[in-house]
Amino acid sequence: MTRIFKIEPFHRELISKTSLLNFLSFLDTNEVELPALLMDSERLRKKASAVGKNIRNSKVFYAVKANAGQGVIELLDGMGLNFEIASDGELEPLARAGVAADRIITSNPVKTFKFLKRAAEYGIKYYAYDSREEVDKIAGIVPDAKVYLRLSVPNEGSEWPLSKKFGVEIDDGISLITYAAQKGLDPVGITFHVGSQCTNIYNWDNALYKAKVLWDMAAQKGIVMRVLNIGGGYPVKYTKNVVDIEEIEKNIDVLIGELFPPDIEVFIEPGRGVVGDAGVFACQVIGKSKRGDENWLHIDVGVFNGLMESIGGIKYCYIVEDTGGKKMNWTIAGPSCDSFDVIDRNVDLYEPRIGSMVLILTCGAYTTSYASEFNGFAIPKTVLI
Ligand SMILES: *Cc1c(COP(=O)(O)O)cnc(C)c1O
Repeated sequence: MTRIFKIEPFHRELISKTSLLNFLSFLDTNEVELPALLMDSERLRKKASAVGKNIRNSKVFYAVKANAGQGVIELLDGMGLNFEIASDGELEPLARAGVAADRIITSNPVKTFKFLKRAAEYGIKYYAYDSREEVDKIAGIVPDAKVYLRLSVPNEGSEWPLSKKFGVEIDDGISLITYAAQKGLDPVGITFHVGSQCTNIYNWDNALYKAKVLWDMAAQKGIVMRVLNIGGGYPVKYTKNVVDIEEIEKNIDVLIGELFPPDIEVFIEPGRGVVGDAGVFACQVIGKSKRGDENWLHIDVGVFNGLMESIGGIKYCYIVEDTGGKKMNWTIAGPSCDSFDVIDRNVDLYEPRIGSMVLILTCGAYTTSYASEFNGFAIPKTVLI
């Protein structure tokens, strides 16, 4: 069945024509059970081969938490990307794909015992830490670990800040690095995270300057580090333009060249930046209603089964089928009975029919990996096309 969608000029700024055509022709020629997360493998390949290109001596470790779909993992594995994981659950798809331990790192600063044991048994060598307690845990379970300290850095300007939960300041940092060395671990470096969906290029500058201070303090104490792990944070376009990954990386590369020794290894851990704009939710209108002055549009994917980030302020863009309706202002809600399940407000869309399809753009990251089956609504399947 050929469906006609209302494509508007602003949609074209968010998704490439080839990507959109890939999705539309797939939907035309396949019976897809809705809702589904469609991942455009061509787009994914393009993004995966772009990240890291502009930073010298860099290695890309895809952050599995952004999208742990088996097909996604296998595609990235095939392209030679490495992986960053936080749990035994995230190790499973990698183990199934046969990813070697030396291509996996773990940057969760506080790990479960179960995961540490599993990771040690698998042969993973690189771990993050930001407390003495974690150093003790790692030293007990993975005595030959290479460890990098999570430094706290400003997250201003990132739409999904991560700074409050993890990371230490420089003074605590230097005593922890020394402590890790005393405990027999190899303190190879420093890591930080500028915040997810980081649209402020200067966050990386601030982080690098701060890491440099700590790096030199460690060197003065005779601890020569070799790994600078700059975490994730690369943004994707949701409803507005964001700074290019290429521009971000060129800026980072210049600064690393100025501040750090020439032979260091740079680890990069992008999640959203690799998968975010390769995914589209195909879902369905299941209801319309008028509540007071508001027009409500009910669709079959919501806050609990895929669009959790809308609660934290991520705004998605929607494409509706052209069914001859006129443009109206909508409150968009998911399928569950919880009143928390409201995805967006004040969205202008042509009025769809009950049963018509809605495409939600830029849904490749932190959607299905974030979803629950609350209220009996299944987590949408991921289909790599
Ligand atoms: C979530 C996370 C990432 C990926 O972040 P993005 O913003 O998706 O690029 C990388 N490293 C760590 C430690 C993380 O927790």
